[in-house]
Amino acid sequence: MKITPLRIVLLSIAVTVIACDRDKDVKVAAQNQSAIAPAATPAAKLSLPPDTGPKPAVDGSSAMQYVKEMVAFGPRPIGSANHKKVEDYLLAHLKGNEVENDTFTADTPEGKFPVHNIIAKFPGTKDGIIVIASHYDTNYPFRNTSYVGANDGGSSSALLLELANQLRGKKRDGYSVWLVWDDAEEAMKPDNEVPFLDDSLYGIRHLAEKWEAGGTLKKIKAFLLADMIGDADLNVDRDGNSTSWLEDVVYEAASRLGYQSHFFARTLPGVSDDHIPFVKRGVPSADLIDFDYGYNDVFWHTTQDTVDKLSPKSLEIVGKTILETIGILDKMDPLPPK
Ligand code: ZN
Repeated sequence: MKITPLRIVLLSIAVTVIACDRDKDVKVAAQNQSAIAPAATPAAKLSLPPDTGPKPAVDGSSAMQYVKEMVAFGPRPIGSANHKKVEDYLLAHLKGNEVENDTFTADTPEGKFPVHNIIAKFPGTKDGIIVIASHYDTNYPFRNTSYVGANDGGSSSALLLELANQLRGKKRDGYSVWLVWDDAEEAMKPDNEVPFLDDSLYGIRHLAEKWEAGGTLKKIKAFLLADMIGDADLNVDRDGNSTSWLEDVVYEAASRLGYQSHFFARTLPGVSDDHIPFVKRGVPSADLIDFDYGYNDVFWHTTQDTVDKLSPKSLEIVGKTILETIGILDKMDPLPPK
């Protein structure tokens, strides 16, 4: 994938990181930079399959109902009774599917905590795996507030349940799809006390290490992450830490569905999120994140992150775009080099 000179400049001057969990000053600086960033580049150099076949189905109202039910448990920081209820809730909805439970104890600045990644596997006929991930925990520092993370953690985890509904019971003529509800993405301490990347992504880091050691990592063709995708005002950002060609495929998928106006109008220099452990290991990865939640992101990581800010349509748009992306990847042979 060609990178424009302007993009290179933007990436090189990027202070590390904004994130689903970054400090506001850095984020605002990045947003200012992104104001001059180029719009998404069409996937001109990719060898794409023709736009044929049925379009994917996703029930936005079903996904929205799942958000409401998850949020109704209250705050769900790791180690809490509510967290356990949400684990059980997710597993109950995956009954009958092939599910792997990845449980371990994380050593955090707040002590040792149980962490539980949930993986639902939908086998395909093609050799290789496409992972779709979402974190489902809420922030430990907010454990005694009314913070429920309806968009941050709730929306994407609910969408994955609806994607499971769509994948269930159908023969996949393509790669295997693994849905991952990863745990303990959020930091345990405020960012000004412990740097974010030293105190976050506990669940997904464990999974990436485990899959690397066991040989699974080599089979992963793409890692797609969904985060904060329920905002009624949906503007999914392009992310400088993600794999360009994979983002191009996502944009192509969105365009084939008529959703391109919701994607990649803005470029963020580099989002730190659950895709990072896979990016570091050379797995093509894309973070689908709308990091503009309310004016100037005012609802993010506040008790205002509630279901009334979300829309079933946004969940449907992102869900269908993910499924269309998988459909394109299934037919791209060979996939671009990492
Ligand atoms: Zn967050």
